Amino acid sequence: MRSISIFGATGSIGESTFDLIRRAGGAVTYRTVALTGGRNIARLAEMARELRAEVAVTAHEDELPALRAALAGSGVEATAGATAIAEAADRPADWTMSAIVGAAGLVPGLRALRHGRMLALANKESLVTAGTLLMQTARDHGATILPVDSEHSAVFQALTGEDMRAVERVIITASGGPFRDWPLDRLAAATVHQAVAHPNWSMGQRISIDSASMFNKALELIETREFFGFAPDQIEVLVHPQSIVHALVGFCDGGVMAHMGPPDMRHAIGFALHWPERGQVPVARLDLAALGQLTFQSPDEVRFPALRLAREVMRTRGLSGAAFNAAKEIALDHFIAGKLAFLDMAAVVEGTLDRLSGEIALGAGIPDLDAVLATDHLARIRADELARTRHRNS
Ligand code: NDP
Repeated sequence: MRSISIFGATGSIGESTFDLIRRAGGAVTYRTVALTGGRNIARLAEMARELRAEVAVTAHEDELPALRAALAGSGVEATAGATAIAEAADRPADWTMSAIVGAAGLVPGLRALRHGRMLALANKESLVTAGTLLMQTARDHGATILPVDSEHSAVFQALTGEDMRAVERVIITASGGPFRDWPLDRLAAATVHQAVAHPNWSMGQRISIDSASMFNKALELIETREFFGFAPDQIEVLVHPQSIVHALVGFCDGGVMAHMGPPDMRHAIGFALHWPERGQVPVARLDLAALGQLTFQSPDEVRFPALRLAREVMRTRGLSGAAFNAAKEIALDHFIAGKLAFLDMAAVVEGTLDRLSGEIALGAGIPDLDAVLATDHLARIRADELARTRHRNS
């Protein structure tokens, strides 16, 4: 029986993964090792009971009594805290889903890779923060990383059986989010409520806002660079409002392979779950005649400066991804709290990168975990300082 763990089980990707596991027979087909969550204790306990998990872990130590109570009599062990999440990644599992949101996903992902595991990676922040380290760890320990972001799963699928030397360029698509055609003055006043209303995808709050600001696409540009190793000028973004074509790979003979699918994350998750085979996945089938047309346009880096900042990070590499991601997470916190204007998120990230480049060697060498975590910490402090100077009420 195949064993699995889901990190971030109570989130949007975690729920979709759970749905696929359950439809495939749940505890009858899969042995569940670890399920982790944050504050949604009731749901975590419910999932752990249904899949008869070995252990359920909450990220928050103050939630442990509630988790223990919710699991009473189930035989599922309950643990709590960031260390407990990392320890859960040490437990042997054939397949691990990395779907914690933010940089908190990095350490458990690395721990799973150090055991040579198969890691389905939705947590793009860990590739952005420590791409070189993550890929090197996978190589050193014979581990496999399967991309779960829909664009990267699409590139991965389009590259299957191809010679990487024949690839000229890779194009990842962006729906453009809810603000695709908004002018700058309207963007300046955009609210959290407007930003989470994604036209095509149903996702967690943070990634939905990142889609509206195109910080999500910025992270994905860096993710493409780190995961596949393409040079920055080989990677393009194309706005495609229908979200049917997820990525395209252009080859040296002029041919282009496009990957299409419905905007449902269960395709990419199911692909990773069944890899290297293909299994049945219950997503809607494409009806291109009903869709009628697919449209494409160039991205606007003036209205969406996150893309320009990502290109800088792709060139600098080293510790700049850790700084970029941490600053973005803090700017997003301030926006969600209603303190920072939508467009000021990019200004905070740019300002943080500028300040940090005067304090540490952002582009130096191949960083180790300590250097990554120290940069993440410092960038959060600097981004918080900068965000406060821009608060709407101050
Ligand atoms: P959600 O916000 O829906 O879920 C996040 C999960 O992480 C929840 O289980 C949450 O617990 C848990 N969590 C939150 N903070 C912490 C923490 N500090 N430590 C440990 N666990 C924590 O996120 P999504 O599912 O939308 O996204 C997950 C990852 O997948 C992100 O990296 C995102 O960029 C990526 N991704 C998501 C896509 C999507 O369609 N949603 C598409 C492609 C990639 P709880 O809710 O119980 O508090």
